[in-house]
Amino acid sequence: MAKPLIGITTRNGKDSDGHPLTALQHSYINAIVQAGGLPILIPAILSEEDFLDLYSHLSGILFSGGGDVAKEHFSGSSHPRIGEVDEKRDFTELSLMRTAVDDGKPILGICRGAQVMNVALGGTLYTHIYDQLKGALDHAYPGDLRRTLVHHVNVDETTRSAEIFGETLLNVNSLHHQGLKDIAPSLRVAGHAPDGLVEIVEIPDHRYAVGVQWHPEWLTDQPSMQRLFKSFVDASGK
Ligand code: MN
Repeated sequence: MAKPLIGITTRNGKDSDGHPLTALQHSYINAIVQAGGLPILIPAILSEEDFLDLYSHLSGILFSGGGDVAKEHFSGSSHPRIGEVDEKRDFTELSLMRTAVDDGKPILGICRGAQVMNVALGGTLYTHIYDQLKGALDHAYPGDLRRTLVHHVNVDETTRSAEIFGETLLNVNSLHHQGLKDIAPSLRVAGHAPDGLVEIVEIPDHRYAVGVQWHPEWLTDQPSMQRLFKSFVDASGK
């Protein structure tokens, strides 16, 4: 059987000469390959007609991590730490997210991807957790700590996520300074950090739609994270 074609969203960056480029860390690609999928990158510079055409060829779509979603999309508070805002990427991902939710096409959102899922469906974000969530843990560990397990996530055992991970207590990395605040009506919270911050959301009636706030693509040595990618790719292949 053909491997499921998994689209992965990307960021817009610049090479060392200042020329624009489409970028994605290999960790996402490797995680999809390891799970039996065929990854294909979705540039965040296409017209809506073209990215929706590209989308129509996909079996599933992974929304990757990255900079902050523009606060105008969710009436968020201004904060000096809001960074790497990219209107083209916001537009591309919010449109693809709403389309994939409507179509029932399998969705995995990682970090920014989980935030895009919430914002696309009417939820809001903390624009800087520490100033807006009382008693917040440190969630913004530096990039060289991608494989370091820094907090727990308690998974609600009645959710689909609990089935997917096969565990209700996860050990995760954390590289985000924003987080899910008001949860969109169609999302179900499936896991929290010990400070109460939402770390997993899912859409109960959807074929497969899971968003996680940490970065499982750096933790693929953990069986629970392997199950996350495998369940997503398997759902995409059905
Ligand atoms: Mn966290």
